Amino acid sequence: MTTLPTTHVSFPAGAVSGESPVLAVHPLADGRYAVVTGATPFHPLDHTWPDQPADLGTLTVGGTTHAVVDCVTGAVGPDGALLVGADIPVRRGDEEWSWLVLHVLAGDPGDVVGAAAAMAVDAERRALLSAAHSGCHLLALALNAALAPRWRKDPGRSDAFGSPDFDSLAMASSVMDTEASTDTYRLGKSLRKKGFTAEATEEYPALTDALPALTEAVNTRLAAWVAADAPVRIEVPGPELTARRQWHCELPDGSAAIACGGTHLHHLGELAELRTELTLSEDGSELVAVTRPKRA
Ligand SMILES: [Zn+2]
Repeated sequence: MTTLPTTHVSFPAGAVSGESPVLAVHPLADGRYAVVTGATPFHPLDHTWPDQPADLGTLTVGGTTHAVVDCVTGAVGPDGALLVGADIPVRRGDEEWSWLVLHVLAGDPGDVVGAAAAMAVDAERRALLSAAHSGCHLLALALNAALAPRWRKDPGRSDAFGSPDFDSLAMASSVMDTEASTDTYRLGKSLRKKGFTAEATEEYPALTDALPALTEAVNTRLAAWVAADAPVRIEVPGPELTARRQWHCELPDGSAAIACGGTHLHHLGELAELRTELTLSEDGSELVAVTRPKRA
């Protein structure tokens, strides 16, 4: 597998279909088969930061249409072996490795290497995942702004609008599905050391008591951004799966950018509404934001 080039991807621009030659078919440990093409519109689950789930859809080759039942990241290292998903020992983009989009089929497609494959992503599922992913980034910015007064000192990392970057400093996990983005933040000792205060101060109530007002502040900001129909684009420095892409959104508050490997809306007017629900774990150690987009 050593000669396989890193897969070129068209999903950052929003593509949901495409045609490309099959470069390899690889049996997987679970009995399924992975098809590698030169280029693809399919977004695979990322092995380093698995936030956006895989695209599903179909791959048609040699007159047969196969269901793409999963789509994962594969990598071929210096020893020539193909590793899949969590088995990959290096971070995305390591230049010694080839990085592949693996279209997972339930059965063996036969001898199709060299044949043209027509690929079609389930566009409805993609649209829902894109809405949830855009919602996730907007929540990050709105939450950072709402929590900014709770920092006793500058933690040394701020977002595009100059707010202390609570989202990236406290992030434990971020997971999207077709309904929502669920972002879990850790309010531990290390965050406190960096200057964040969850306890009551002379100016602010404890985070537990402030939750309704905080949720309201975040949702007001999200509603204003959706109402402004802000344009969204992905900056793509190259066609490879591993290119360092950036999400850009021209919000009324200014231009925001966040590093991102996923798919997104083209403008926020595609949403009728975007609302988050904030909850604290019982012991107060975790803040969870469930952000639901409603499409227009
Ligand atoms: Zn992202």
